[in-house]
Amino acid sequence: MFPRNRRDDFKIARERMVQHQIAGRGIRDARVLEAMRKVPRHFFIDEALWDQAYGDHPLPIGHGQTISQPYIVALMTQELNLKGHERVLEIGTGCGYQAAILAELAKAVFSVERIPALLSKARKTLDSLGYTNVFLKLDDGTWGWKEEAPFDAIIVTAASPSVPQPLLDQLADPGTMIIPVGDEFSQSLLKITKADGELHQQHHCGVRFVKLIGDHGWRD
Ligand code: SAH
Repeated sequence: MFPRNRRDDFKIARERMVQHQIAGRGIRDARVLEAMRKVPRHFFIDEALWDQAYGDHPLPIGHGQTISQPYIVALMTQELNLKGHERVLEIGTGCGYQAAILAELAKAVFSVERIPALLSKARKTLDSLGYTNVFLKLDDGTWGWKEEAPFDAIIVTAASPSVPQPLLDQLADPGTMIIPVGDEFSQSLLKITKADGELHQQHHCGVRFVKLIGDHGWRD
């Protein structure tokens, strides 16, 4: 027997992650499952943590921030119901993993991050994996990305005390936004849809994210 190489081990770990943590918990969108199978999550985190890359939990990415648990990434992505033609806005690039998943499923991803070191690292990782449809910006994402609006889908990957008005304004009609709203300890994952000029809001589940810090989020 030849020993398996590490790349194969990660592939097997990803397959297990999809089966047990994602499909096993009810995520059914075949395109989402395929993206989760494909994107090498370990590349987005520190090499010292690679052994935990496909575990059922969030992981630190430096600067007090975290990459979400794989299931939460899959759940939020599935709720956006992406078909491939969409322009998506993400607030909170972090390590860029969620952006890569979105890039597999949509036409273009615009992602905003407020911490310069995280943004430049995410850019390097996404470039090295060949993602040419992800556009990054250093800014307070609670203002959205006005020049590129409107967006068919918006995903906020940090916890907000309320839904930032600029994001509602920049959501296309029809459009879907997914955002954790609540206090700093626990939030409700909200799905907001815009259709025929009207907004509808649906509560999904309880979650815990790091804070969205900015003019329309938490004060620094
Ligand atoms: N989607 C990320 C998870 C990031 S954690 C991933 O896949 O890794 C949340 C991120 O939101 C952190 O990187 C944090 O710095 C960022 N953030 C917090 N407030 C922000 C704001 N107002 N604008 C942009 N990014 C913000």
